[in-house]
Amino acid sequence: MSIKTANPKGLYLLFATEMWERFSYYGMRAIFILYMTQALLFNKELASEIYGSYTGLVYLTPLIGGYIADRYWGNRRSIIVGALIMALGQFLMFLSACDYEQPAVAVPLMFAGLAALILGNGFFKPNISTLVGDLYAPSDHRKDSAFTIFYMGVNVGSFIAPLWCGFVGDTGNPSDFKWGFLSACIGMVIGTLLFWTLKNKYVVTPEGRAIGMPPAKSPQTAAQQPDVPASKTRIAATIFGTALLVVLFSLNYGYFQGNGTLFEQADFIGACIYAICITVPLFIITDKSLTAIERARILVIYIIAFFVIFFWAAFEQAGASLTFFANEQTDRHIGSWEMPASYFQSFNPVILVCLTPVFTSLWSFLSKRNCEPSSPVKQALGLMLLAIGYVVIAFGVRHVEPGVKVSMIWLTSLYLLHTMGELSLSPIGLSMVNKLSPARFSSLMMGVWYLSTATANKFAGALSSYYPEEGVAKSFLGYPVTDLFDFFMLFAMMSAAASVILFLLCKTLKRMMHGIE
Ligand code: GLN
Repeated sequence: MSIKTANPKGLYLLFATEMWERFSYYGMRAIFILYMTQALLFNKELASEIYGSYTGLVYLTPLIGGYIADRYWGNRRSIIVGALIMALGQFLMFLSACDYEQPAVAVPLMFAGLAALILGNGFFKPNISTLVGDLYAPSDHRKDSAFTIFYMGVNVGSFIAPLWCGFVGDTGNPSDFKWGFLSACIGMVIGTLLFWTLKNKYVVTPEGRAIGMPPAKSPQTAAQQPDVPASKTRIAATIFGTALLVVLFSLNYGYFQGNGTLFEQADFIGACIYAICITVPLFIITDKSLTAIERARILVIYIIAFFVIFFWAAFEQAGASLTFFANEQTDRHIGSWEMPASYFQSFNPVILVCLTPVFTSLWSFLSKRNCEPSSPVKQALGLMLLAIGYVVIAFGVRHVEPGVKVSMIWLTSLYLLHTMGELSLSPIGLSMVNKLSPARFSSLMMGVWYLSTATANKFAGALSSYYPEEGVAKSFLGYPVTDLFDFFMLFAMMSAAASVILFLLCKTLKRMMHGIE
């Protein structure tokens, strides 16, 4: 194997660090809602709302972590600070669960823990992703494969975590939740120690120069950093615009929930996420230091990130409506054993890990023949695979009466197609953001990329409430959702439309990328 195709050792350090961090994140997430409902005795609505806000906010803070890394700390320090804050957050969750019988102690500790996890993730997530790309020269063709391998680390962690944390924490005895949170804390500490002790040796360029240092110490970024301070007018306009949108979205939230009532269920956190998703990207793209080419490339990231919202909103039904479907309408018998519905959650990471080598080989096979699709085409392909997954299941359940169970083959095919879509879209998206961002904004742009996940996680919750219920008439923007076929076709049409429009835009986007594939 030539030096050009082997990946640097640093990739495997980042793989292992991210694997432990995701173990911690998904392990806690797997038992979090159960902890709230079974130990703290919160009702389902409150628990779901807290859960939805948490999963939205963890993907909002990468904006802050990305900004601070680019401007002051560099990726390495940001990752370590973020990892330590997250370990503290998991420890606070552990302390909360130790005292679950005293809500006056347990509830504040839980919120403090969540706040730490949200903040810590903001420092960790965009910066580790940026480091992966920075291990390679800007035009290195191995980047897509590197991000795909890194993404496998994400999924090894997210496969093992719910099994382990569920095994020790979700035993039916509420006093055991603490062991799940403690495991998540230990996982985070292992990840932190690995990165801390090995970064100097492995997170380096092929010539041995340190990567991820603060901008002043990094010749690559310092040289290109014309320090143009943001004008007060732009800052004021961004703050004012955000506040205005928060009010508007809060007022309209009830309407979009499908109940047609304007002032019901104002969701302040959702409104903040949607508003920031609009104003902060505008703030960044109006930065005076950007050249025309840089601005065009950033616009490409924005346009694709917009389409990617639809991907995650439909994909994330896995934890919501698709779990109801697994529970209520899927025959889960294998011989005499009935598989628990929650096991379907593991299908995605397992399939992903198995298919990673297939996808990395596919991209390198196509690249050698000069016909590897461009990044926007891969994103559109991901959306199309997602749509096909929903079409397959929609036809699988067509004319099936409520209460009748269908074969597992439908849900399994859906997860297979969705995972192929994810492999085509998600790691390639990270790689594309890294390639298209100006070096001095690279971590901040990762933060912007994760904004689409923040929005999508909120949007997914709203869409899952259209899951058909007998005797309840639901309609989404005029489209009646009367049965499961309509419900699944809603996601199929949404992602197919996003995919087709993105395909049509690909030529223009490619031009705007100015030579980057
Ligand atoms: N499974 C991925 C992760 O945890 C999803 C990331 C995303 O952007 N939604 O990293």
